[in-house]
Amino acid sequence: MNEESGRSTSVRDVVIVGSGVAGLSAAVYAARADLEPLVLEGPEPGGQLTLTTDVENYLGFPEGVGGMELIQRGKDQARNFGAEFSHGRVERASLDERPFELDLANGDTLRARSLIVATGASARWVGAENEDELMGYGLSTCATCDGAFHRGDDVLVIGGGDSAMEEALFLTKFADSVTIVHRRDELRASDIMARRAREHETISFRWNTELLEIHGSQDDGVTGVTLVRHPDGHPKEKIDAGEDVEYETVDVGGIFYGVGHVPNTDFLADTAVELDDAGHVGTLDGRTTETSVDGVFGAGDVMDPEYRQAITAAGTGSMAALDAETWLEERAVAETQPGSVVEMEADD
Ligand code: NAP
Repeated sequence: MNEESGRSTSVRDVVIVGSGVAGLSAAVYAARADLEPLVLEGPEPGGQLTLTTDVENYLGFPEGVGGMELIQRGKDQARNFGAEFSHGRVERASLDERPFELDLANGDTLRARSLIVATGASARWVGAENEDELMGYGLSTCATCDGAFHRGDDVLVIGGGDSAMEEALFLTKFADSVTIVHRRDELRASDIMARRAREHETISFRWNTELLEIHGSQDDGVTGVTLVRHPDGHPKEKIDAGEDVEYETVDVGGIFYGVGHVPNTDFLADTAVELDDAGHVGTLDGRTTETSVDGVFGAGDVMDPEYRQAITAAGTGSMAALDAETWLEERAVAETQPGSVVEMEADD
């Protein structure tokens, strides 16, 4: 049996899928409760915080803390209490019977009495022409990761939320000019982030504008874009509606998407875990982390379309571990009752 490689066939009390701030917080709580959780790190280990620069609003860090540092410290903390970590992407979850089974992309199968889904969310793309070909070749969803490749370039940032403002501000360290392209004339970003971006001399805005097409090649990188504008905003919708719009071609050396994220719940599609229209895991009554499947709990951005903060993700991670602990205890008690109807689980 090699649990580090995820080949274990023994049944875990708790498997936590996802190693972002929600998964790590769940791991700390579950490990302190002696549940020996296994944390499965997926394709984006450490989650979105590893792609951010300074986190200024996480309680207890008056000077701010690096996203990567916060995650590394959380991982160390979880390990100190006995959490184990393993790499693997869940391709399919079988949740109709317990123990649950998780089939990983490498062919391994994990089995668990309870499951905490903390798979977070991944960067959304805007659907511009050529984005598939040029992602990673001058088009990026992560300024922190790729900004340094754009020294002296003119770059675009797409989006009007906090992520777009943060990306734009970060890119001013490298780029000659940063233009934020937003589909409306009003930002979604918080006042403080919007003000910082508006007041920065390197940053300018294109309002009511969307990215239609990206020019360039994998050899040459991004060389330019076709933008579309309509005075009432949402110009792509106006094209679909047959209205007149303005087109413009602009030379740029880089493009950064900051248009939000989509929850990572594909592996739950064929299960009885209820998802909302956007794919977030639904939790019962909005009060607990319980999902529509007994023994499956949701934590962090994968279940939270509203707040999506590092600190709220950590909070729901701890809630999920506490809920899982209570649920396991109640089942253990139920199994010892005479005439118990609780289905027995094989434990090899
Ligand atoms: P968000 O708040 O959902 O903003 C996404 C932005 O992208 C919106 O302005 C949206 O336009 C635009 N957009 C979405 N789909 C688009 C498309 N297909 N084409 C063009 N534009 C599109 O996402 P976020 O900025 O990633 O922030 C998520 C959460 O994290 C928020 O709660 C935010 O406060 C938090 N956050 C905080 C910080 C910080 O405090 N430092 C940093 C990053 C994120 P509309 O406005 O028209 O919908």
